[in-house]
Amino acid sequence: MAAGTPYVIAIVGAGPSGIYAAEALSQQTEVPVEIAVIDRLPVPFGLVRYGVAPDHESIRSIRNTLERTLERPEVRFYGDVNIGTDLGIEELRSTVDAVIYAYGAGSDKRLDIPGEDLTGSIAAAEFVGWYCGHPDVHPDVDQPDRDIPLTAAAIDELISSSSQAVVVGVGNVALDVARVLIKSAPELTDTDMPDDVLESHAHKGIREVRILGRRGPAYTAFTTKELRELGQLPGVDVFVAPDDLGLDESSQAVLERNKVAARNMTVLREWAERTPTGAARRIYLDFWTRPTKIIGTDRVTAVEVERTMISPDGYVAGTGETHKVPAQLVVRSVGYRGRALPGVPYDDSTGRVPHAEGRVIRDHGFSADEYVTGWIKRGPTGVIGTNKSDALETVTSLLADISDGAVVARGRSGDLDRLLASRGIYPLGIGAWHRIDAAEIELGLKQGRRRTTLAHRSELLAAAEEDHKSNVP
Ligand code: NAP
Repeated sequence: MAAGTPYVIAIVGAGPSGIYAAEALSQQTEVPVEIAVIDRLPVPFGLVRYGVAPDHESIRSIRNTLERTLERPEVRFYGDVNIGTDLGIEELRSTVDAVIYAYGAGSDKRLDIPGEDLTGSIAAAEFVGWYCGHPDVHPDVDQPDRDIPLTAAAIDELISSSSQAVVVGVGNVALDVARVLIKSAPELTDTDMPDDVLESHAHKGIREVRILGRRGPAYTAFTTKELRELGQLPGVDVFVAPDDLGLDESSQAVLERNKVAARNMTVLREWAERTPTGAARRIYLDFWTRPTKIIGTDRVTAVEVERTMISPDGYVAGTGETHKVPAQLVVRSVGYRGRALPGVPYDDSTGRVPHAEGRVIRDHGFSADEYVTGWIKRGPTGVIGTNKSDALETVTSLLADISDGAVVARGRSGDLDRLLASRGIYPLGIGAWHRIDAAEIELGLKQGRRRTTLAHRSELLAAAEEDHKSNVP
């Protein structure tokens, strides 16, 4: 480690983008650093814990690498500290030498069609939060001020009373949602889903999932490995209408320049030729189909959809030809969106923090001490690894500014802890995570599972208690 007064850097958000930024900072040897990785949740890992589907264990295991970064001597995890409520942005900036915003895209895009708010119409973020055990969707009884309006009990009720689901969007999240909806409980036991979520799957009634793509099969956002997985589920027939696979000129051009799209097309063509096995569970991929209305009085009963085409100017357009698809559950999976954090520059038109190469733009110029990385920087795109190169770009900018003298070490070690302690806030550290991790493994083993996920904040705090107590005077 480099000698001298350390630069104290706060990273807001302990998801992959924040932790990759901490890794890049802690692995360089030119500049001495102290890094505080802050998260509003008691546990780190962001979307690796609360976004990656539980049946994608190899991707979830990235958390082991992320954990090693949080264990490095220059890095400290500050769990259960909410920037915006526990501490304002200006207060945070006054205790450190630079801040890197890495708080992701915590909101979802809407369809803006009639009926979207009916019971039974939900956002993928809510469903994903439910099956991953996010504390916002699994609130404690005395915790009413959540961002997500749907509770685990409501989702449990929805999936047990639905037999047909519609998933809108053809991205990787839509595939995750469709796969988890159609899989049976025994097929999900060997995951770390919370126990009560697994129990819900044992009595769910979903037999049919329809995935709607508003454009043609050349314009899919998912990756081929994830697509193929859907066609390999035992006891599930996958249907693609051969008529949907005809290629217009613009689709042809997409397939010629985009290898992933071309590979996806090969998979879809193979599925279109399959003879159904007569399986009780079915997944349909309907292209050139967009939802125009969600139908129902108290509860969703169907979705009105319209056939689409590509207009001469290259945009998707309705043909006016509509029909109804029966459904009791509609999950919109049309992408995430970044939120404004009070005090942080935000561009509402993009849902991102304005920046150049990770340097935050504030009042038409570069802010002296603010940087940004991850989804709140570039938008909700790419796979987890994309965040590594993204974080490197931001950290390279920060280190260049340090070497130019634009960011100065002001001997702020300990200021953040003192300010938090003055408010009675004692963050959960990486030791607390180790205890939670051990508790989740132990609890899982008791149920004959590899591990489980503690979903309620109170459960996480209880599991961390011994370690946390040692931090509190
Ligand atoms: P996404 O990849 O941006 O896909 C969004 C989909 O929604 C697109 O098909 C888009 O179609 C469609 N859409 C948008 N607005 C719509 C509307 N109003 N009506 C109908 N359809 C609409 O978003 P995502 O699936 O949420 O994924 C976010 C990121 O996480 C992606 O980079 C994804 O690859 C990544 N991820 C990766 C994995 C994995 O690697 N296993 C798993 C989950 C997520 P258009 O193209 O027509 O706009």
